[in-house]
Amino acid sequence: MIQRLDDGDITIIKTGTPVSGRVILWSMMFYYKGLVIDCGCPYAAEDAYNVLKTLGDIEAGLITHHHEDHVGCAYILGKEGIPVYAHDRGLPILRDPPEIPEYRRIVWGQPKPIDALPVAREMEIGGIEISVFEALGHSDDHVVYLIDDYLFIGDLISSIRPKIAFYRDDYTMILRSVKNILLNIDFKKAYGGHVILTRNEMDEFVEYLEDLRMRIMDLHGKGFSTMDIVDLLWEKIPDKVYMMEAVSEGEWHRKYLVDSLL
Ligand SMILES: [Zn+2]
Repeated sequence: MIQRLDDGDITIIKTGTPVSGRVILWSMMFYYKGLVIDCGCPYAAEDAYNVLKTLGDIEAGLITHHHEDHVGCAYILGKEGIPVYAHDRGLPILRDPPEIPEYRRIVWGQPKPIDALPVAREMEIGGIEISVFEALGHSDDHVVYLIDDYLFIGDLISSIRPKIAFYRDDYTMILRSVKNILLNIDFKKAYGGHVILTRNEMDEFVEYLEDLRMRIMDLHGKGFSTMDIVDLLWEKIPDKVYMMEAVSEGEWHRKYLVDSLL
């Protein structure tokens, strides 16, 4: 299932899998000046490509990281002879994607193999200049793309006030990457797989996480265990957090956020 939105000269394509007629989680991909930034989820690959074709020429696909909800229609771009770029650490995984757990196959779909090319620090594609920055913490092949005033941030931030994390997330490193971006990159708006943010909202994310880390360290110093800290940190937990912990076969939990900030 897809939804198309326009934000100035950026086209946003939301991709997702309906469960009982409703999409629980959307993953966004973008089209800007002939460039496709991220490729949505495998379940919606053909629908997404059919929309892309109506938007104009497609010069290249730019992948922020190898996760399945960011690479869906990249294989179609490849079949059409359109180059797809990603961090060189992601290339072997894109070429031979491992079988993902069942809940992720249901939510997003199993990705198909993609022969991608390695990104360079500075790229020019179809006359458009692209700056590429490594931004680690969510995956070890994560990059962000600066094109004009827009920064495409993949899953570096998925929520301004996260209360849950993926077992591979390293929030200490994510915090470092986001602070580095705010200090060194001039951009107006950040486009991610699950959120679109202003610079102020990214500042808010940093403040929230720094405050959270101080509280976690304080409780840890007093001898509380990770699971105690999980229970003490937030008064109210959204239902979605409990749902993700229940269905994700242990891959998503509040404890990963706590542990990775210690
Ligand atoms: Zn991801």
